[in-house]
Amino acid sequence: MNRKKSIVIGSGFGGLASALRLKSKGHNVTLLEKHTDLGGRARVFKKNGFTFDAGPTVITAPYLINELFELFNKNPKDYIDIVPLNTWYRFIFEDGMKFDYSGNEDQIRNQIKKINNEDLEGYEKLIKFTKKIFDKGFTELADIPFNKPSFMLKQLPALLSLKSYKSVYSLVSSYIKNEKIRRILSMHPLLVGGNPFTTTSIYGLILYLEKKWGIHYSMGGTGQIIKGLEKLMKEQKIEIITGQEVTNIILQNNKIQGVKLKNQEEIRADNVICNADPSTVYDELLNQKKLNYFFKWKRKRMEYSMGLFIYYFGTKKTYDKVQHHTIKFGNKYKEHLDDIFENKKLNEDISYYLHRPTATDKSMAPDGHDCFYVLVPVPNKQSKIDWSIEGDKLKNLVISKMENSLLPNLKENIVEDFYLTPDYFEKELNTKYGSGFSIQPKFTQSAYFRFHNKSEICDGLYFVGAGTHPGAGVPGVLSSAKVLDKIL
Ligand SMILES: Cc1cc2nc3c(=O)[nH]c(=O)nc-3n(C[C@H](O)[C@H](O)[C@H](O)COP(=O)(O)OP(=O)(O)OC[C@H]3O[C@@H](n4cnc5c(N)ncnc54)[C@H](O)[C@@H]3O)c2cc1C
Repeated sequence: MNRKKSIVIGSGFGGLASALRLKSKGHNVTLLEKHTDLGGRARVFKKNGFTFDAGPTVITAPYLINELFELFNKNPKDYIDIVPLNTWYRFIFEDGMKFDYSGNEDQIRNQIKKINNEDLEGYEKLIKFTKKIFDKGFTELADIPFNKPSFMLKQLPALLSLKSYKSVYSLVSSYIKNEKIRRILSMHPLLVGGNPFTTTSIYGLILYLEKKWGIHYSMGGTGQIIKGLEKLMKEQKIEIITGQEVTNIILQNNKIQGVKLKNQEEIRADNVICNADPSTVYDELLNQKKLNYFFKWKRKRMEYSMGLFIYYFGTKKTYDKVQHHTIKFGNKYKEHLDDIFENKKLNEDISYYLHRPTATDKSMAPDGHDCFYVLVPVPNKQSKIDWSIEGDKLKNLVISKMENSLLPNLKENIVEDFYLTPDYFEKELNTKYGSGFSIQPKFTQSAYFRFHNKSEICDGLYFVGAGTHPGAGVPGVLSSAKVLDKIL
């Protein structure tokens, strides 16, 4: 048995999964979280009978969650209730055209046929190609450490043959002619913080991952999964300390000694596992002066994911025609994305994602009410946008857009609301530039080029979560904890 003392900083999905994985290997584990509640981006806000999941709502690859319970011979069903959804996403375009995306391939083919019969063959070929990407990028490499350049070099021929130098949009466009179908099949990078026009085509694997396991919902909200994991951690005697921010990681001769908390208390440890954003950890928690040239260069050229504006609201009536997950495209899709990622400015022609959990689960709102959040991708804080001014403006813009299309008379029916901006991500979740998903999923920031799971600059320091390999999204961060399992 390994009786090493390991500290996990942060209680996002990555932090909870690594605490459990290390405990199952016999480590003496303490989890430290800045907030008084667990979950990080997946925490929950409860207001007047409404349950607002703050972040992840689309549950994919649920086996990665189940595995954590199975490590301790527990039945996941005794802790969580994850159900498959029939319609995965409803896509809506500015001209009112709707596309219901699901695991029902006949239904998908029929809709593609109606839009552009010629694209049917391309669709079949694209799915076959994304299976190849999935087999390599997910099945073979998602939970393997990329700490050595030699290992990365070994993978390069396969990655090149999978056209990883192309963007997801360009890969999809090489099979599909119709712009609407291109958007539907290439939007997945946005779910992990990337621009479909610049994200490496390796992330096309998400298209196949969804088809393989389906899209699921956690009854009671994603927060119920966090609750289930917390219960399991307590049963397994993992020490959980909440409401304590780590201010320093203590090193001696480049070796981990422990951490220092805001209240000045020090906790000794053999290993420190950071689920906190790696950029912030390197900048603010480590007093490292002598960094090697390659690491400094890598840090300097890093590009960060977009920011998120999320408006949570409850209505006193129900909008029964609205699906659980809706993605509404604006007219100027590429221009909007360019403004977010390159020009770093706001654009009124927005695309947005609308979450209506009450479509599946009435317990998320009081009787006769509906619970929602609408997410608008926006520039991160490198933009210098003043959210104390722009926040209300964007809220009013998105309400009027929804009123004109999906949710008639919305304004007069809202009974509860609040919003979060990149300021929240920066100040409350400690993410660099308030980015929604840490660094972008570009080829030059993936695998070996991402932050390593085993720190490249000191001993005993490890990283899990969105900024590390394999990357953001719940399946990604749970896989990063599996990488840790292999190296610690
Ligand atoms: C609005 C939104 C919607 C999303 N939707 C989906 C979705 O539908 N499906 C999906 O798969 N993914 C989705 N994602 C992505 C997914 O939520 C994230 O990738 C994942 O939850 C990130 O987990 P993480 O392990 O990186 O940790 P995080 O959730 O980032 O948690 C890090 C934790 O560390 C704590 N912390 C930071 N610094 C310190 C410190 N110094 N001391 C103590 N604690 C500290 C923070 O308080 C936080 O709790 C979404 C994300 C957002 C924001």
